[in-house]
Amino acid sequence: MTPSARDFLKEMMTELEPRLSEGEGALELAVRCVDRLEDSGLFNAGKGAISQSDGVVRRDAGVMDGRSLEALGISQVRGIPSMARLVAALMGRSGHVHLSGTMVERWAGRHGWTPGLPEEERDPTLCWERAPGLAGEGTVGCVARDLQRNLAAVTSTGGIGRMWPGRVGDSPIVGGGFYADNERGAISMTGVGEAILKAGGGGALIALLAGASGENRDRILSEFLERIRARFGGEAGCVGIDRDGGYFAAHSSHRMVHGFLKKGRHHVSDQGSGYRDLD
Ligand code: ASP
Repeated sequence: MTPSARDFLKEMMTELEPRLSEGEGALELAVRCVDRLEDSGLFNAGKGAISQSDGVVRRDAGVMDGRSLEALGISQVRGIPSMARLVAALMGRSGHVHLSGTMVERWAGRHGWTPGLPEEERDPTLCWERAPGLAGEGTVGCVARDLQRNLAAVTSTGGIGRMWPGRVGDSPIVGGGFYADNERGAISMTGVGEAILKAGGGGALIALLAGASGENRDRILSEFLERIRARFGGEAGCVGIDRDGGYFAAHSSHRMVHGFLKKGRHHVSDQGSGYRDLD
């Protein structure tokens, strides 16, 4: 993890802590967290999103509220870096679970979202310089559990390197790159979207974990991620919280930058810690 990413995450946790302890809802907390990550420009989402192979930055994001079970993913949206706030604003208005491209941009325009085009979207070569080979690393996500034990999940991404224009991965797909249900848990995924979706996505992993006893949960996590890698050919990682507040960070990739915030304490790392219980 770069020192700037570590410092940024610690600072962000310190800012979020009073909101969590003062009772802000899980949905607002998760959106606020991802909004900060997007705005930092340090990750492949929001202001730091990479372009697709035609040089155009198209972003994907998803949000699910574990209490109301409202969910929405938006994909291939141009010109709006604050995707977490946009998808949260649009969630619950249509009854649909996925909206894409131009129509989302039009809705945003009609509802006062000014497309803010960062320099890199006006000149894609800047984006390519920053991410040589269009490697693409750094989807962002957050899962939250508030004082009322409500859960929420948000994921936001610029996608993967060498994407065809129009390609959509797991991140904005409910049950793929994000999922939250108060009766089961909440999860945000990262990694190769094609492989994650073929393996059944984060919703499948949360269902497996919800039915498992304590000592089996780490095995289920690592087997699921290993199956994505070995059988479907892609590395992946996830952060999640279960219905009882147990939480986890796990990955098959070399590293996954992540942090936990709990009862005034926070922890930032790039090595997954597996399953932990709340207390
Ligand atoms: N899952 C994202 C996608 O496939 C990429 C990532 O997490 O790095 O678009």
